[in-house]
Amino acid sequence: MPHPQLTVVVPCFDECEVIDAFHSALVAALEPTGEPFEICYVDDGSGDGTADRLRALAASSPYVRYTSFSRNFGKEAALLAGMRMARGDAVVLMDADLQHPPELVPRMLELHRHGYDQVVARRDRTGEGAVRSALSRAYYRVVRHFMEVELADGDGDFRLLSRRAVEAVLSLPESNRFSKGLFSWIGFPTAGFAYRNVERAAGSSKWGGRRLLDYGIDGLLSFNTRPLRLAIHTGLWLFLSALGYAAWIVVNAVLNGVETPGYATLITAIVGLSGVQLATLGVIGEYVGRIYHEAKRRPHYVVAESDASASRHADGVPTTAAAQSRPRR
Ligand code: UDP
Ligand code: MG
Repeated sequence: MPHPQLTVVVPCFDECEVIDAFHSALVAALEPTGEPFEICYVDDGSGDGTADRLRALAASSPYVRYTSFSRNFGKEAALLAGMRMARGDAVVLMDADLQHPPELVPRMLELHRHGYDQVVARRDRTGEGAVRSALSRAYYRVVRHFMEVELADGDGDFRLLSRRAVEAVLSLPESNRFSKGLFSWIGFPTAGFAYRNVERAAGSSKWGGRRLLDYGIDGLLSFNTRPLRLAIHTGLWLFLSALGYAAWIVVNAVLNGVETPGYATLITAIVGLSGVQLATLGVIGEYVGRIYHEAKRRPHYVVAESDASASRHADGVPTTAAAQSRPRR
Protein backbone atom coordinates (compact mmCIF):
# COMPACT_ATOMS: atom_id res chain seq x y z
CA MET A 1 0.00 0.00 0.00
CA PRO A 2 1.40 3.46 -0.87
CA HIS A 3 2.23 5.83 1.98
CA PRO A 4 -1.11 7.40 2.91
CA GLN A 5 -1.47 11.13 2.38
CA LEU A 6 -4.52 11.17 4.56
CA THR A 7 -5.52 9.25 7.68
CA VAL A 8 -9.07 9.40 8.98
CA VAL A 9 -9.33 8.59 12.69
CA VAL A 10 -12.73 7.39 13.89
CA PRO A 11 -13.50 6.67 17.57
CA CYS A 12 -16.38 4.21 17.90
CA PHE A 13 -18.34 3.28 20.97
CA ASP A 14 -21.37 1.06 20.39
CA GLU A 15 -21.71 2.19 16.77
CA CYS A 16 -22.56 -1.23 15.30
CA GLU A 17 -25.79 0.06 13.73
CA VAL A 18 -24.17 2.84 11.80
CA ILE A 19 -20.58 1.80 11.18
CA ASP A 20 -21.14 0.17 7.76
CA ALA A 21 -23.14 3.12 6.44
CA PHE A 22 -20.46 5.45 7.76
CA HIS A 23 -17.68 3.44 6.17
CA SER A 24 -19.32 3.38 2.73
CA ALA A 25 -20.06 7.11 2.89
CA LEU A 26 -16.48 7.89 3.90
CA VAL A 27 -14.91 5.74 1.20
CA ALA A 28 -17.27 7.24 -1.39
CA ALA A 29 -16.13 10.71 -0.32
CA LEU A 30 -12.41 9.88 -0.22
CA GLU A 31 -11.97 7.83 -3.40
CA PRO A 32 -12.67 10.68 -5.87
CA THR A 33 -9.85 12.76 -4.33
CA GLY A 34 -7.32 10.28 -5.77
CA GLU A 35 -5.16 10.60 -2.65
CA PRO A 36 -3.88 7.44 -0.98
CA PHE A 37 -5.71 7.25 2.35
CA GLU A 38 -6.12 4.99 5.37
CA ILE A 39 -8.91 4.78 7.93
CA CYS A 40 -8.02 4.07 11.56
CA TYR A 41 -10.98 2.91 13.62
CA VAL A 42 -10.68 2.81 17.38
CA ASP A 43 -13.23 0.66 19.18
CA ASP A 44 -13.62 2.19 22.62
CA GLY A 45 -14.67 -0.98 24.42
CA SER A 46 -18.04 -1.37 22.69
CA GLY A 47 -20.33 -4.14 23.86
CA ASP A 48 -22.45 -4.40 20.72
CA GLY A 49 -20.18 -6.17 18.26
CA THR A 50 -18.57 -3.02 16.83
CA ALA A 51 -15.18 -4.71 17.19
CA ASP A 52 -16.31 -7.63 15.01
CA ARG A 53 -17.49 -5.22 12.34
CA LEU A 54 -14.16 -3.40 12.42
CA ARG A 55 -12.23 -6.67 12.20
CA ALA A 56 -14.27 -7.61 9.14
CA LEU A 57 -13.72 -4.20 7.53
CA ALA A 58 -9.97 -4.43 8.15
CA ALA A 59 -9.84 -7.93 6.70
CA SER A 60 -11.60 -6.86 3.52
CA SER A 61 -9.88 -3.54 2.83
CA PRO A 62 -6.13 -2.96 2.97
CA TYR A 63 -6.58 0.70 3.91
CA VAL A 64 -8.58 -0.01 7.08
CA ARG A 65 -6.76 -0.44 10.41
CA TYR A 66 -8.28 -0.80 13.83
CA THR A 67 -7.52 -0.90 17.51
CA SER A 68 -9.87 -2.24 20.13
CA PHE A 69 -9.68 -1.20 23.79
CA SER A 70 -10.11 -3.59 26.67
CA ARG A 71 -12.95 -1.44 28.07
CA ASN A 72 -14.51 1.98 27.53
CA PHE A 73 -11.82 4.61 28.10
CA GLY A 74 -13.66 7.59 26.62
CA LYS A 75 -13.51 9.46 23.36
CA GLU A 76 -10.39 11.44 24.26
CA ALA A 77 -8.40 8.24 24.77
CA ALA A 78 -9.78 6.81 21.54
CA LEU A 79 -8.74 9.94 19.62
CA LEU A 80 -5.26 9.68 21.12
CA ALA A 81 -4.93 6.03 20.12
CA GLY A 82 -6.09 6.91 16.60
CA MET A 83 -3.58 9.72 16.25
CA ARG A 84 -0.80 7.40 17.44
CA MET A 85 -1.79 4.86 14.80
CA ALA A 86 -2.08 7.42 12.01
CA ARG A 87 0.65 7.42 9.37
CA GLY A 88 -0.76 10.00 6.99
CA ASP A 89 0.64 13.47 6.33
CA ALA A 90 -2.75 14.88 7.25
CA VAL A 91 -5.07 13.42 9.85
CA VAL A 92 -8.83 13.98 9.99
CA LEU A 93 -10.69 13.22 13.23
CA MET A 94 -14.37 12.45 12.87
CA ASP A 95 -17.30 10.76 14.64
CA ALA A 96 -18.72 7.47 13.44
CA ASP A 97 -22.37 8.50 13.68
CA LEU A 98 -22.47 10.50 10.41
CA GLN A 99 -22.90 13.75 12.34
CA HIS A 100 -19.63 14.82 10.74
CA PRO A 101 -20.49 14.68 7.03
CA PRO A 102 -17.74 12.75 5.17
CA GLU A 103 -18.31 14.84 2.03
CA LEU A 104 -16.66 17.76 3.82
CA VAL A 105 -13.30 15.97 4.06
CA PRO A 106 -12.15 16.88 0.51
CA ARG A 107 -12.86 20.53 1.32
CA MET A 108 -10.73 20.24 4.44
CA LEU A 109 -7.91 18.72 2.38
CA GLU A 110 -8.19 21.58 -0.09
CA LEU A 111 -7.75 24.14 2.71
CA HIS A 112 -4.85 22.09 4.12
CA ARG A 113 -3.14 22.30 0.71
CA HIS A 114 -3.36 26.08 0.98
CA GLY A 115 -1.04 25.86 3.95
CA TYR A 116 -3.31 25.51 6.97
CA ASP A 117 -2.15 23.10 9.67
CA GLN A 118 -5.58 22.84 11.25
CA VAL A 119 -8.87 22.94 9.43
CA VAL A 120 -11.94 23.01 11.66
CA ALA A 121 -15.43 22.21 10.49
CA ARG A 122 -17.71 24.13 12.79
CA ARG A 123 -21.30 23.01 13.17
CA ASP A 124 -24.17 25.38 13.73
CA ARG A 125 -26.88 24.50 16.25
CA THR A 126 -29.68 23.48 13.88
CA GLY A 127 -32.06 20.95 15.40
CA GLU A 128 -30.59 21.14 18.88
CA GLY A 129 -32.84 21.61 21.92
CA ALA A 130 -33.28 25.26 22.99
CA VAL A 131 -32.15 24.57 26.56
CA ARG A 132 -29.05 22.66 25.50
CA SER A 133 -27.92 25.28 23.01
CA ALA A 134 -28.57 28.15 25.46
CA LEU A 135 -26.55 26.29 28.12
CA SER A 136 -23.65 25.60 25.77
CA ARG A 137 -23.61 29.20 24.61
CA ALA A 138 -23.44 30.41 28.20
CA TYR A 139 -20.72 27.85 28.93
CA TYR A 140 -18.54 29.07 26.07
CA ARG A 141 -18.94 32.64 27.25
CA VAL A 142 -17.70 31.66 30.72
CA VAL A 143 -14.91 29.52 29.31
CA ARG A 144 -13.69 32.29 27.02
CA HIS A 145 -13.51 34.55 30.02
CA PHE A 146 -11.50 32.09 32.11
CA MET A 147 -9.28 30.24 29.72
CA GLU A 148 -5.97 31.24 28.28
CA VAL A 149 -6.77 29.28 25.12
CA GLU A 150 -9.35 30.31 22.53
CA LEU A 151 -12.40 28.02 22.33
CA ALA A 152 -15.06 28.71 19.74
CA ASP A 153 -18.69 27.67 20.13
CA GLY A 154 -19.42 24.77 17.77
CA ASP A 155 -15.76 23.87 17.24
CA GLY A 156 -15.75 20.17 17.85
CA ASP A 157 -13.38 17.37 17.17
CA PHE A 158 -14.21 17.31 13.46
CA ARG A 159 -10.97 18.70 12.18
CA LEU A 160 -7.94 18.09 10.02
CA LEU A 161 -4.48 18.27 11.54
CA SER A 162 -1.21 18.38 9.63
CA ARG A 163 1.55 15.96 10.55
CA ARG A 164 3.37 18.53 12.63
CA ALA A 165 0.16 19.49 14.44
CA VAL A 166 -0.46 15.81 15.26
CA GLU A 167 3.09 15.46 16.56
CA ALA A 168 2.53 18.55 18.69
CA VAL A 169 -0.67 17.11 20.20
CA LEU A 170 1.03 13.76 20.82
CA SER A 171 3.92 15.46 22.56
CA LEU A 172 1.58 16.76 25.27
CA PRO A 173 1.90 14.18 28.03
CA GLU A 174 -1.05 15.00 30.32
CA SER A 175 -3.42 12.21 31.15
CA ASN A 176 -6.39 14.54 31.59
CA ARG A 177 -6.94 15.27 27.93
CA PHE A 178 -9.39 17.99 26.97
CA SER A 179 -8.71 17.84 23.26
CA LYS A 180 -10.62 20.98 22.26
CA GLY A 181 -8.24 22.90 24.50
CA LEU A 182 -5.18 20.97 23.34
CA PHE A 183 -5.92 21.70 19.69
CA SER A 184 -6.22 25.36 20.46
CA TRP A 185 -3.11 25.34 22.66
CA ILE A 186 -0.77 23.97 19.97
CA GLY A 187 -1.54 26.91 17.70
CA PHE A 188 -0.46 26.78 13.98
CA PRO A 189 -2.35 28.47 11.13
CA THR A 190 -5.98 27.43 11.42
CA ALA A 191 -8.82 27.75 8.94
CA GLY A 192 -12.45 26.91 9.51
CA PHE A 193 -15.80 26.72 7.84
CA ALA A 194 -19.32 26.17 9.06
CA TYR A 195 -21.68 23.35 8.19
CA ARG A 196 -25.27 22.56 9.02
CA ASN A 197 -25.71 20.40 12.10
CA VAL A 198 -26.99 16.88 11.35
CA GLU A 199 -28.79 14.48 13.63
CA ARG A 200 -26.99 11.23 14.44
CA ALA A 201 -27.85 8.55 11.84
CA ALA A 202 -28.61 5.68 14.26
CA GLY A 203 -27.92 4.60 17.82
CA SER A 204 -27.89 7.15 20.64
CA SER A 205 -25.57 9.81 21.95
CA LYS A 206 -23.44 8.83 24.93
CA TRP A 207 -23.42 12.34 26.30
CA GLY A 208 -26.11 12.68 28.94
CA GLY A 209 -26.53 15.81 31.05
CA ARG A 210 -24.20 14.55 33.79
CA ARG A 211 -21.42 13.57 31.42
CA LEU A 212 -21.67 16.93 29.62
CA LEU A 213 -21.46 18.75 32.95
CA ASP A 214 -18.33 16.78 33.95
CA TYR A 215 -16.83 17.50 30.55
CA GLY A 216 -17.55 21.20 31.04
CA ILE A 217 -15.87 21.24 34.47
CA ASP A 218 -12.91 19.34 33.00
CA GLY A 219 -12.59 21.93 30.28
CA LEU A 220 -12.58 24.79 32.74
CA LEU A 221 -10.12 23.26 35.16
CA SER A 222 -7.71 21.42 32.89
CA PHE A 223 -6.38 24.51 31.23
CA ASN A 224 -5.57 27.08 33.83
CA THR A 225 -5.40 27.98 37.48
CA ARG A 226 -7.71 30.99 37.24
CA PRO A 227 -10.45 29.44 39.42
CA LEU A 228 -7.83 29.34 42.22
CA ARG A 229 -7.10 33.01 41.63
CA LEU A 230 -10.83 33.70 41.72
CA ALA A 231 -11.03 31.99 45.12
CA ILE A 232 -8.27 34.26 46.45
CA HIS A 233 -10.02 37.37 45.11
CA THR A 234 -13.34 36.34 46.60
CA GLY A 235 -11.66 35.69 49.96
CA LEU A 236 -9.98 39.10 49.95
CA TRP A 237 -13.16 40.96 49.08
CA LEU A 238 -15.11 39.10 51.73
CA PHE A 239 -12.44 39.91 54.30
CA LEU A 240 -12.52 43.60 53.38
CA SER A 241 -16.31 43.81 53.49
CA ALA A 242 -16.33 41.98 56.84
CA LEU A 243 -13.85 44.57 58.18
CA GLY A 244 -16.05 47.41 56.89
CA TYR A 245 -19.14 45.87 58.43
CA ALA A 246 -17.40 45.42 61.79
CA ALA A 247 -16.21 49.04 61.74
CA TRP A 248 -19.74 50.21 60.97
CA ILE A 249 -21.18 48.21 63.92
CA VAL A 250 -18.60 49.71 66.30
CA VAL A 251 -19.12 53.29 65.05
CA ASN A 252 -22.89 52.88 65.17
CA ALA A 253 -22.74 51.53 68.73
CA VAL A 254 -20.44 54.34 69.91
CA LEU A 255 -22.31 57.21 68.23
CA ASN A 256 -25.90 56.10 68.64
CA GLY A 257 -25.61 53.61 71.45
CA VAL A 258 -27.49 50.96 69.44
CA GLU A 259 -27.51 47.42 70.73
CA THR A 260 -26.86 45.00 67.83
CA PRO A 261 -28.53 41.60 67.98
CA GLY A 262 -25.35 39.50 67.79
CA TYR A 263 -26.72 36.18 66.58
CA ALA A 264 -28.04 37.56 63.26
CA THR A 265 -24.68 38.88 62.11
CA LEU A 266 -22.89 35.84 63.50
CA ILE A 267 -25.04 33.33 61.68
CA THR A 268 -24.87 35.28 58.42
CA ALA A 269 -21.10 35.51 58.65
CA ILE A 270 -20.65 31.84 59.56
CA VAL A 271 -22.94 30.54 56.86
CA GLY A 272 -21.53 32.88 54.19
CA LEU A 273 -17.93 32.21 55.03
CA SER A 274 -18.23 28.45 55.37
CA GLY A 275 -19.92 28.37 51.98
CA VAL A 276 -17.03 30.22 50.44
CA GLN A 277 -14.53 28.02 52.27
CA LEU A 278 -16.19 24.85 51.09
CA ALA A 279 -16.28 26.03 47.50
CA THR A 280 -12.64 27.08 47.66
CA LEU A 281 -11.68 23.74 49.20
CA GLY A 282 -13.53 22.04 46.38
CA VAL A 283 -11.59 24.00 43.80
CA ILE A 284 -8.28 23.19 45.49
CA GLY A 285 -9.35 19.57 45.84
CA GLU A 286 -10.02 19.41 42.10
CA TYR A 287 -6.48 20.49 41.35
CA VAL A 288 -5.01 18.14 43.94
CA GLY A 289 -7.05 15.36 42.38
CA ARG A 290 -5.62 16.23 39.02
CA ILE A 291 -2.07 16.22 40.35
CA TYR A 292 -2.73 12.82 41.91
CA HIS A 293 -4.07 11.59 38.58
CA GLU A 294 -1.12 12.88 36.59
CA ALA A 295 1.37 11.61 39.16
CA LYS A 296 0.22 8.02 38.64
CA ARG A 297 1.32 8.22 35.01
CA ARG A 298 -0.99 5.49 33.90
CA PRO A 299 -1.34 4.76 30.19
CA HIS A 300 -4.38 6.42 28.65
CA TYR A 301 -5.88 3.13 27.56
CA VAL A 302 -5.26 -0.59 27.32
CA VAL A 303 -5.44 -2.27 23.94
CA ALA A 304 -7.16 -5.62 23.74
CA GLU A 305 -6.56 -6.14 20.07
CA SER A 306 -5.43 -4.30 16.97
CA ASP A 307 -4.73 -5.14 13.37
CA ALA A 308 -1.00 -4.81 14.10
CA SER A 309 -1.22 -7.12 17.10
CA ALA A 310 -3.54 -9.47 15.22
CA SER A 311 -0.82 -10.11 12.65
CA ARG A 312 1.91 -10.24 15.26
CA HIS A 313 -0.16 -12.37 17.57
CA ALA A 314 0.96 -15.46 15.70
CA ASP A 315 4.54 -14.78 16.84
CA GLY A 316 3.38 -14.76 20.45
CA VAL A 317 3.87 -11.02 21.00
CA PRO A 318 1.61 -9.75 23.81
CA THR A 319 -1.29 -7.77 22.42
CA THR A 320 -1.02 -4.78 24.73
CA ALA A 321 2.47 -3.90 23.50
CA ALA A 322 1.23 -2.33 20.29
CA ALA A 323 -0.35 0.82 21.67
CA GLN A 324 2.32 1.65 24.17
CA SER A 325 5.19 1.31 21.72
CA ARG A 326 5.42 5.09 21.28
CA PRO A 327 7.62 6.56 23.99
CA ARG A 328 5.71 8.55 26.60
CA ARG A 329 7.23 11.35 28.56
N1 UDP B 1 -17.35 7.84 21.54
C1 UDP B 1 -16.26 7.09 22.01
N2 UDP B 1 -16.19 6.80 23.34
C2 UDP B 1 -17.14 7.21 24.24
C3 UDP B 1 -18.22 8.00 23.75
C4 UDP B 1 -18.28 8.30 22.41
O1 UDP B 1 -15.39 6.70 21.24
O2 UDP B 1 -17.02 6.90 25.42
C5 UDP B 1 -17.41 8.15 20.11
C6 UDP B 1 -18.73 7.77 19.46
O3 UDP B 1 -18.71 6.45 18.99
C7 UDP B 1 -18.82 8.76 18.31
C8 UDP B 1 -18.14 9.99 18.89
O4 UDP B 1 -17.31 9.54 19.97
O5 UDP B 1 -18.10 8.33 17.17
C9 UDP B 1 -19.14 11.03 19.38
O6 UDP B 1 -20.02 10.44 20.31
P1 UDP B 1 -21.56 10.81 20.40
O7 UDP B 1 -22.17 10.80 19.05
O8 UDP B 1 -22.16 9.92 21.43
O9 UDP B 1 -21.47 12.29 20.94
P2 UDP B 1 -22.30 13.59 20.46
O10 UDP B 1 -22.27 13.61 18.97
O11 UDP B 1 -23.65 13.43 21.01
O12 UDP B 1 -21.53 14.74 21.06
MG1 MG C 1 -22.77 12.22 17.75
